[in-house]
Amino acid sequence: MGLHTEKVVPSAHEIREQYPLSDELKAVKEARDAEIKDVFTGASDKFVVIIGPCSADNEDAVCDYVQRLARVNEQTKDKLLIIPRIYTNKPRTTGEGYKGILHQPDPEKKPDMVQGIIAIRHMFLRSLEETHLTAADEMLYPGNWRYMEDILSYVAVGARSVENQQHRLVASGIDVPVGMKNPTSGDLSVMINAVIAAQGHHTFLYHHEQVKSDGNPLTHTILRGSQDQYGQNIPNYHYENFKMLIDYYAQHELLNPACIVDANHCNSGKKFDQQPRIVKEVLHSRKLDKDIHNFVKGVMIESYIEDGNQKIGEGIYGKSITDPCLGWDKTEKLLYEIADRL
Ligand code: PEP
Ligand code: MN
Repeated sequence: MGLHTEKVVPSAHEIREQYPLSDELKAVKEARDAEIKDVFTGASDKFVVIIGPCSADNEDAVCDYVQRLARVNEQTKDKLLIIPRIYTNKPRTTGEGYKGILHQPDPEKKPDMVQGIIAIRHMFLRSLEETHLTAADEMLYPGNWRYMEDILSYVAVGARSVENQQHRLVASGIDVPVGMKNPTSGDLSVMINAVIAAQGHHTFLYHHEQVKSDGNPLTHTILRGSQDQYGQNIPNYHYENFKMLIDYYAQHELLNPACIVDANHCNSGKKFDQQPRIVKEVLHSRKLDKDIHNFVKGVMIESYIEDGNQKIGEGIYGKSITDPCLGWDKTEKLLYEIADRL
């Protein structure tokens, strides 16, 4: 047998009991979830900004970052709905490299999943207590959803997972918005099929139980650009891309048609400093066309305290150890510009 048990990990129930949400924070989350839901159903015209580092590798830097966001949020909350991106598990293209705080609570030390799960819970609770901004994470491992189901206000399914049945089935049982990214190939039908699947209800096997999901009407799409067979980036944040996706939606009976634009990844070619330009183009397209305005509900931005990225071990506070991010000064300026241009 090639798989060896190293440790038994506490159940989601045990971890949630050990690191619970206070009644106050439960109420904060309930109110935030209602506010976010209103954007995706069209009841509110606020613009969603899902923003934060590619990977949340360090609790102090992440909480410092989210506190900065909270200060901007105070000034812009009439127009923006800022959702901190606290990404705790990273898909890796070749399987190599840092897989997130879930695997390595200290990126310079060996993997420890028990400490990783505790570190995640601790970081989310602290950030929520300090800012009252409930956060977003990627659901890389659908089996871990129960560890996080009471705390997250937004979930993304990544480009490498979106065709996977278990991701789609678990998404159908989540009651906050789930964004389905286009796959790395850019095939829109894969992303739309994921939305169809997650909006439906299903019976399936989950953690030794037969479960039934209600279907998630807030499942929507995320455009993140793609790569062709030669490794060239093909962006999909332009006016024409939105028009095509709107037409594509119209061919299916989907609830709450909505899309978020990821300004980094294959849309920027990971040129992090292109994100402000890309976001402004998206805002311009929304101004030109009412259908686009109603359809494009927000953007996703990779941002941290310092510009760019670094190798693990370089030790620069607030600088990404995965994809390059927009630093704080440019981020703050961009957030105010977004609010001004809406
Ligand atoms: C990410 O959001 O950091 C990410 C890995 O995205 P994608 O799945 O689009 O590559
Ligand atoms: Mn990234």
